Amino acid sequence: MFAVKTFRPVQVQPRTMHLFNNKAYINGEWVSAKSNKVFEVTNPATGEVIGTAPDMDAADAQHAIDSASKAFATWQYTTAKRRSLYLRHWFDLMVKHHESLAKIVRLEAGKPVMEARHEITYGNSFVEFFSEETRRIQGAIIPSPVANKKILVEKQPIGVAGLITPWNFPHAMITRKAGAALAAGCTCVIKPAEDTPLTALALMLLAQQAGFPKGVVNVVTSSRGNAPGIGNLLCDSHLVAGISFTGSTQVGKLLYKRCSSRVKRLALELGGNAPFIVYKSADVDSAVKGAIAAKFRNSGQACIAPNRFFIHSDIYDSFVEKLINEIKALKMGSGEDLEVQIGPLINQAQFEKVSSLVQDAVSKGAKVLIGGKGAPQHGRLFYEPTLLTDIKDDMMVYTEEVFGPVVNIFRFDSEEESVAMANNTERGLAGYFYSQDVSQIFRVARKLEVGICGVNQDMLSTAEAPVGGVKESGLGREGSHQGIEEFTYLKYIALGNL
Ligand code: NAP
Repeated sequence: MFAVKTFRPVQVQPRTMHLFNNKAYINGEWVSAKSNKVFEVTNPATGEVIGTAPDMDAADAQHAIDSASKAFATWQYTTAKRRSLYLRHWFDLMVKHHESLAKIVRLEAGKPVMEARHEITYGNSFVEFFSEETRRIQGAIIPSPVANKKILVEKQPIGVAGLITPWNFPHAMITRKAGAALAAGCTCVIKPAEDTPLTALALMLLAQQAGFPKGVVNVVTSSRGNAPGIGNLLCDSHLVAGISFTGSTQVGKLLYKRCSSRVKRLALELGGNAPFIVYKSADVDSAVKGAIAAKFRNSGQACIAPNRFFIHSDIYDSFVEKLINEIKALKMGSGEDLEVQIGPLINQAQFEKVSSLVQDAVSKGAKVLIGGKGAPQHGRLFYEPTLLTDIKDDMMVYTEEVFGPVVNIFRFDSEEESVAMANNTERGLAGYFYSQDVSQIFRVARKLEVGICGVNQDMLSTAEAPVGGVKESGLGREGSHQGIEEFTYLKYIALGNL
């Protein structure tokens, strides 16, 4: 039997607590890389170095896996009520330090302050939600066809979970995975993105304060060069039961292949190419408002951001005119200004990618109605909110996820045409449409090949809903009680001779 100590949360720090940290977190300790190497973390808005993090490699990841594996031996038997309390306490600390967390997100991800604050509220909500769900991970007793037998089904945690997260939501992508994994009774090794390790480390400081036993949650930071080595180890190690990855489809495919050798559990939240369709019955003002909110959140760097806009001919001119006016009103600039809505792109590679996609479209005949270039007066990585029309399906802005503040507009005449164009992609994460025609709403919602569908609605993200894609946008779901399923397996227990 495992002795379970009385739950006693560690004393919390005052509100002004400093959450910046330059060490990784393994086995309940703050550690440097075994190599002693570090990498710099910069503010994309200013280019200023804001800190460093350990540049870990597979040897450090092995240490984290070993620690998580050891911790799993007891964590899996910690009662659901107690796991719930740890998560609740972690959530309470995140709420208490909301502003400090938002500051780190603002500095390392370059998000305007209001967006950074929103991400913290959103990210925190997963830990709150999963703290509540922990006590509702239930099995079943199924009526047996034989009188003296019982069929029991129990949900058990899969084991150590490797969690690999991107830079675009450095807080929420961790809490969405770790909240579910810890609730299920798994222990975690988290690998955050090179651009945003400091948010992950701040979360570990709060996890430590929340009193999670050592080894239950670990963060291995690394530069881009070491990410494949760490990823390969997580895929290959027999001590890691499953991987949950959010990031590009390209890397997701590599992990999918690699995990096959151990038939490892895998959840993939990958890139999208979301359509945004406005039908002629739509409330155009509401559609324009939704387009601005969904497209320009995080400067377009969101996996569910609309990537291709399809507007019915009858309302095309009015939609485009209103959208241009709204785009002109967007404020770009430094993250500290409360009124700023558009921050920088995350790094030079992302800036070059967005620029090259726009250039490709223009060279093939697209028209730039507004924007279409960088905004160096604000900083090296700022790109102007852009509106392109006369888009064709051979342009890269149609086939690829832009991940930047660029709206590409097509005109259509029939519902069939709009659905065919929307589904003409290998991706299937999110899709949006605006219509006041009830029959059309049910028809199109059924036909769109996506895992997340917004109807007259731009805000799709919430802890209560399952998110994930179809086609090459991924496997599995995050958020909602479904998110916990990714970290459990069903055990059928047959009781005989009763
Ligand atoms: P990425 O390059 O795939 O990186 C994602 C994470 O994987 C980072 O932590 C990265 O570390 C790590 N990584 C890179 N190569 C790896 C490898 N060979 N093995 C293991 N890990 C590896 O993606 P990104 O550019 O950061 O993120 C943008 C993409 O994420 C977009 O396509 C977006 O749509 C997608 N996304 C999807 C969702 C969703 O819910 N579906 C949510 C957010 C983002 P380094 O940073 O150190 O390279």
